[in-house]
Amino acid sequence: MSSPVSKSPMKPVILARPEHCVSRKNISTAAIKVLYRLRDEGYTAYIAGGGVRDLLLDRHPKDFDIATDATPEQLRKIFRNCRLIGRRFRLAHILFRGEIIETATFRAPVPETDGEHNEKVFRTGEDGQVMRDNVFGTPEQDAFRRDFTINALFYSISDFSIIDYTGGLEDLEKKIIRVIGDPDKRFTEDPVRMIRAARFAGTLGFEIEKKAYDSICRNKDKLALAAPSRMYEEVQKLFFCGHAREVFHWLETTDLLHPMFRDFAHWIDEDKIRHDWVIQTLEQMGRWRKANLRVHPALLFALLFGEYHEFLAQQLVKAGASPFEAARDSVHQHLHGMCTNVRVPKQVIYQVSDIMTNQLRFERGKGKKPKRFMQHKAFLDAFLYFKFSAKTHNRNTELLAYWTGLRETKS
Ligand code: ATP
Ligand code: MG
Repeated sequence: MSSPVSKSPMKPVILARPEHCVSRKNISTAAIKVLYRLRDEGYTAYIAGGGVRDLLLDRHPKDFDIATDATPEQLRKIFRNCRLIGRRFRLAHILFRGEIIETATFRAPVPETDGEHNEKVFRTGEDGQVMRDNVFGTPEQDAFRRDFTINALFYSISDFSIIDYTGGLEDLEKKIIRVIGDPDKRFTEDPVRMIRAARFAGTLGFEIEKKAYDSICRNKDKLALAAPSRMYEEVQKLFFCGHAREVFHWLETTDLLHPMFRDFAHWIDEDKIRHDWVIQTLEQMGRWRKANLRVHPALLFALLFGEYHEFLAQQLVKAGASPFEAARDSVHQHLHGMCTNVRVPKQVIYQVSDIMTNQLRFERGKGKKPKRFMQHKAFLDAFLYFKFSAKTHNRNTELLAYWTGLRETKS
């Protein structure tokens, strides 16, 4: 597989229904409805990407994305409950109660951008937004545009077969994350794919194929070129996937951690104890995820960077700041600085800062209107941080017992 776009039509590997384990029972009713409706209207309709991968691995898919030869306009006519979104590439969101089925028209390959011609053909007028993505293609072209072979499988509703153009079935068997096409080219085209490789390897317990791995090590600094808002979305997925520790392992071995979280990564390098704290945090995230507890972004960032923020705060206190100022400013300095790479929304930064400044209220302890603090909407996050930190460092045992007792008498 040398090129992401094969010039002549390629014969896919097709697994007929008796040859695979994917059953309609495990596909959401909403997705099935969309697939059948498209089929009945005469269109090709596939489940694509992560949904097929997870069904084949007997995992519970997060969602089901559909790929079809119906255009966005045709989709709008077929489905009343449809909203078109996206500027670079128009997608349809088909809305059901409690579920959105993302439906995309098969996409054509990204044209080479080295020719002037392409720039002109694919650039729109007013804001210069590059629209070259909005070119429709064949199922094969759509498969080859995807990131990894295991993410490029289709499930067809017409005969319930699995269609594999890129070798994804074999890589699922071998437990390998393999880039479609030349890794250097694909990672340069979209550097976020590098952290996606780490996420899939960590989550699925797969290896990153050697060429892809070496390419990440070579290209890791290109992560700085990715859009910071997209990085924020992908970073959350890294730590909310239920396998944060395993994902972190891949981020460390490939050294993606440095271009992603520069200051934090340097700080970890200086002392193994710091590393251990981070690992414990990641394990905690995994436990919460297994218990189906939703950790929102502010708590995630507060915990992940907690020890680092406490360290920065100590430096600020030494330089003359009050403990409150130090707790607040350490968070703001670090997270605002990080925004050039990973754009943490302002509101989230304020919430992280609240979690850290509120730690002082636990430490002040008993006499200071604890009941009022407990009624405050920021209390629970602050308490979760306090409890985690007390247990991990084996400190504040008495205070923790006091606050836990108060919470129990309240409920
Ligand atoms: P998850 O289960 O975490 O949602 P996923 O594989 O469904 O994993 P998504 O981010 O939801 O991942 O993307 C859906 C599909 O779109 C992927 O499976 C892949 O085929 C394709 N895709 C997503 N991001 C990229 C990218 N950066 N480059 C190429 N293809 C991509
Ligand atoms: Mg998905």
